[in-house]
Amino acid sequence: MTPTVYAIPLRTRFRGITVREGVLLRGEAGWGEFSPFWDYDAATCVPWLRAAREAADEGWPAPVRTEIPVNVTVPAVGPDRAAEIVRAGGCGTAKVKVAEPGQAEAEDLARIEAVRDALGPGGRLRIDANGGWDVDTAVRMLKLLDRYELEYAEQPCRTVEELAEVRRRQHVLVAADESIRRAEDPLRVARLNAADIAVLKVQPLGGVRACLRIAEDIGLPIVVSSALETSVGIAAGLALAAALPELPYACGLATVQLLQSDVVDEPLLPVNGMLPVRRPEPVTPPDADPETAARWRVRMSTVEGLVT
Ligand SMILES: [Mg+2]
Repeated sequence: MTPTVYAIPLRTRFRGITVREGVLLRGEAGWGEFSPFWDYDAATCVPWLRAAREAADEGWPAPVRTEIPVNVTVPAVGPDRAAEIVRAGGCGTAKVKVAEPGQAEAEDLARIEAVRDALGPGGRLRIDANGGWDVDTAVRMLKLLDRYELEYAEQPCRTVEELAEVRRRQHVLVAADESIRRAEDPLRVARLNAADIAVLKVQPLGGVRACLRIAEDIGLPIVVSSALETSVGIAAGLALAAALPELPYACGLATVQLLQSDVVDEPLLPVNGMLPVRRPEPVTPPDADPETAARWRVRMSTVEGLVT
């Protein structure tokens, strides 16, 4: 079956993009999603294609749980909008984006305060700086944010060495994301004592089985997160979260709500902070224009040429 290309606008600008695009491919085992961001070169896209092929051709290991706790994601928006997103999300855990280029620290503080108020004292609040702070800023901000009871801080700084230093100099837990999925050696984070938690994403790490191997080798609690996929890609993240022996934290898989629409009839949206472990079939015709579709077909065949 010919792969189909989708293009779906985002509700809020995220990661510098306003439209999410990708390819859905169908194999013996079901549908897979290939949706690397456009700033990645062909070699970086190889694991993304492996993940899509695993979904389409092999399927995934057996689940050990039937539903997955998830967090609501709050982009770098103003405090009123942030509170609205948390209340609409219905999740007991929120992840707040901070250190957005061009924004002031006061904006981060206002957003976090609004999210803490909206969650209430029992809610869990984590932040994600996407490597945007230097060590001194991270240490200062985390000490300042301590009164909001952070569950953890995801990728406060860019490098593994910096993460290790942030861990030594303050006590908020540190989660590694980019330091795992964009690293030559994802296990270096553990060797250098640079993280308390490992964030794993199925597409950039090459599939559910590849992630299960990393989880076993890295020896840290795992948080499964999405790469802002449609429900087809989210199903792979759910399969990973469902197959992990232990799952102590809510996962970052409730991101379909950041898209204006989806490719399936019953999108993977959380109910009471939980996502069911299931695999929806795409039905809605994707909406990519011919130019976008052609661009993706060229990209996919380039990456296919690199996959051995
Ligand atoms: Mg992250």
